[in-house]
Amino acid sequence: MNEPKESLEDIRRKLGDCQRCELATTRRNLIFGSGDPAACLMIVGEAPGEAEDVIGEPFVGRAGQELMKWLAAMSLSRNQVYITNCIKCRPPNNRTPYDQERHTCLPFLRRQVAAVAPRVILALGTPAIQSLLPGMGTITHLRGQQLEYEGVPLIGTYHPSAVLRDRPKLANVVADLGVLVKILYGKKEN
Ligand code: URA
Repeated sequence: MNEPKESLEDIRRKLGDCQRCELATTRRNLIFGSGDPAACLMIVGEAPGEAEDVIGEPFVGRAGQELMKWLAAMSLSRNQVYITNCIKCRPPNNRTPYDQERHTCLPFLRRQVAAVAPRVILALGTPAIQSLLPGMGTITHLRGQQLEYEGVPLIGTYHPSAVLRDRPKLANVVADLGVLVKILYGKKEN
């Protein structure tokens, strides 16, 4: 008999009051993920920032506002996709997550992908792509290509915070999202 599929609630329960790394000592909230648990599109960011740490949801600060514009351009809203990060707790001063922190969180991210079973994954920035496709390179090298994570098409693009700092990158994002939309809507209508 097949094992029943692990749900997002099961995974969240197993994470519990996670103390698996030092970030537990500085975070306010563990930000697990939000959105449609059966979404066609799963978005993986880097790590919660200050707004997310306070509010307890991913991408609710400035980077989140930028991401919502990208979603709207694809006729999607935040409750139609599933959004999470490669690490679930805010690093002090929003520093880049350490490899060890990403490795510690990775089993939970992998299980989230299995639970949602999206049609496409959008990885935002280098830490997200390095978590899912270790050793393959940085976002600058991998963006816009049709990659695969465990049989699921994966597109990488720049992180919204990088685009807020460097507006010309938006043109690259638009191109990358064009590739994503073709995969997302190409096989069957949403
Ligand atoms: N940046 C991220 O990578 N994730 C968030 O949730 C917020 C900002």
